[in-house]
This record gives sequence, C-alpha cells and structure tokens, in this order.
Amino acid sequence: MPNIETANASALQQIKEIEKRAHPLLICDVDEVLLQFIPHLERFMKDHGISFKETAYRLKANMIYTQTGENLTDDVCMAVIHNFFESEVGKQEAVPHAAEQLERLSKLCDIVILTNLPGSHNKSARENLLTRLGMDYPLVTNEGPKGGAVAALCAERGHHPVIFIDDSPTNIISVGKSTPHVQLVHFIADSRFFAIAGNLPNVALKSNCWKETGDFIENLLVTAVR
Ligand SMILES: [Mg+2]
Repeated sequence: MPNIETANASALQQIKEIEKRAHPLLICDVDEVLLQFIPHLERFMKDHGISFKETAYRLKANMIYTQTGENLTDDVCMAVIHNFFESEVGKQEAVPHAAEQLERLSKLCDIVILTNLPGSHNKSARENLLTRLGMDYPLVTNEGPKGGAVAALCAERGHHPVIFIDDSPTNIISVGKSTPHVQLVHFIADSRFFAIAGNLPNVALKSNCWKETGDFIENLLVTAVR
C-alpha cells in the first residue's frame, strides 16, 4: 500500500542526517508525551484572558475569551499557539518518569524524537531543554500529520520493530495508515484529557504512565528478538 502522507522537505532533510541501521526504533513525540503541554498552555492562556470551552482534544474552536465566552477565530487561536511556543518552549516541564524510561529503553532500541513545532528557531531551544532534562536523543521537527516522516524513519530498519508514541489522534491515525507494521502507543500525560480520549484503531497501548509504557515497550522489544 502506498504511503498516504509525504514528509515535508525540512523533516526529510533532518531524517537523512540520522544514522540508520537494522535495529529496533522508538519514535517519540514531545508535547504531552515527554514534556507537559496542556497545563503550560492553560496557564499561558489564562494570563491572556483565554480558556478552553471544554475538555476536548482540539485547539481550534475550543478557545474562548474567559470573560465573554466568545470563541477565538482560527487565526487568533493559531497566533496564541505560536506565541505560546515563542515564550514557553524553553520552560516546559518533563512528564514524570519519561527520562528514566527512555534511558532504560535506549539499551534495547534507537530513539528518535519527532515533534511538530512552529518556528525553526525553536528547535534548538527544545533540544537544549530536552538535554537538560536528560532526554538527549536526535530530534526531528515536522509539520502536519507524521505518517510520512515515520515512513522515512523506518527505512533500513529491516524487520526490526518500530514503535511510535504520540498524544494526537491525527498523528496516530496517519502513522497507522502509512506504516501499518509500526506499533502504536497513544500516550496523553494530562489526566483530564486522557480520561476523555477515545480508543483509536490498531493502538497497542493507551496510557498516561511512563512506567507502564516502559514495561510495555521493553516487553515488545524483548519478545521480538526471541
Ligand atoms: Mg504531542
């Protein structure tokens, strides 16, 4: 089946520079997986008089002016997200146990961090923060659904297992269609958003706990080499 997504040129260029080998691979998202995102965004929005209308996994059409209850337009909503990253990308806090579980899994597989991040200049700020937090792995910045980038990252892995972790239903579905052999982990750190998240097709694990996720992935990798 042909890939339904194509990686954008910038992501492809970054992926070219990553060493590839016949070895298992873990591809890991950042926001709401390695770094807390929703609580930071809510604090930033509150400072600007904005809140979420409801606990729902979408940003557009879910941001309102707290005082009037009026919706932000899509353009203003995207500007808030952009300004959030400009201001906060170097300040986000780690999701509990993410660093220690990646360290554990790094003995069994290669790790690549794949993040959708507006503004190419924010990449180094995010790399520096992840390094400070003990998560110093190759980082690729992408735009849009991640299926194309994951397909490119799977090259030269042979039959070794590839695991993809993300909080976004769009990305999980995109990767599931582009690379059906990839094991999907749907991870949402925020407990309120985890509780309302629907079950997506072909997901091997849905979790909000890195200890559970580390155990699950280790078991997949150990079973695969038997
Ligand atoms: Mg995310």
